[in-house]
Amino acid sequence: MNREGIIFVISAPSGAGKTSLCKEIIDIFPTLRHSVSYTTRPMRSGEKNGIDYHFVSDEIFSAMVEGGDFAEWAEVHGNRYGTAIATLKEAAAAGQDILLDIDCQGAAQLKKNWRQGVFIFVLPPSFEELQRRLLGRNTDSAEVIARRTANARDEVRQATWYDYLVINDDFALALEQLRAVIVSEGIRTPRVLPTVAGAFGL
Ligand code: ADP
Ligand code: 5GP
Repeated sequence: MNREGIIFVISAPSGAGKTSLCKEIIDIFPTLRHSVSYTTRPMRSGEKNGIDYHFVSDEIFSAMVEGGDFAEWAEVHGNRYGTAIATLKEAAAAGQDILLDIDCQGAAQLKKNWRQGVFIFVLPPSFEELQRRLLGRNTDSAEVIARRTANARDEVRQATWYDYLVINDDFALALEQLRAVIVSEGIRTPRVLPTVAGAFGL
């Protein structure tokens, strides 16, 4: 592939199924890579440093903010998360498509400053189902779940400005919709044209 990599940005309220969808979609597309964010959140059991996130201290995160290292960063549910400029630049230069699982505040910053991203919002079928999933996931305390559910009410209001809305009710259907977006974006005319322009004199 000799085109610039595409930046896919996915946001959703916590518990909508974004992480599950992202994990599956990465397995479907060998050309798509997950952007590893920096975070000050404590590691959950099963997570690996450098794979799920770069887990860093408050001090290191602050130094990166001051150094201008982030393309976007935001405080989400009491912790800070950010995408390094270097991660995006490396992917773009290598023609590597990259998937960013980031919150709405960060996505809005990228939309403003970066422009060429594809913005996808994942919604749960209802607030009740969202809460059920957070409880079922068994990874967060009751206090953390309460905070994330309360934040979800604000987050869903941001869905309106995204390019695509995926409702994650039936998981297989949601995955198929996400797959369709990624395939379609890859064959937009300006992205394909350079590869055939010579052969067809276009
Ligand atoms: P997020 O990353 O958005 O916080 P997760 O991917 O961790 O969400 O999903 C939250 C929980 O809901 C997980 O336990 C996951 O297995 C479950 N889940 C995800 N999608 C569905 C679905 N379509 N139907 C039922 N449960 C789901
Ligand atoms: P979690 O703690 O459940 O892994 O993630 C919490 C929230 O932080 C999710 O909404 C996730 O999308 C967001 N997030 C993860 N990485 C980043 C990032 O680099 N930047 C921003 N702005 N949000 C992020």
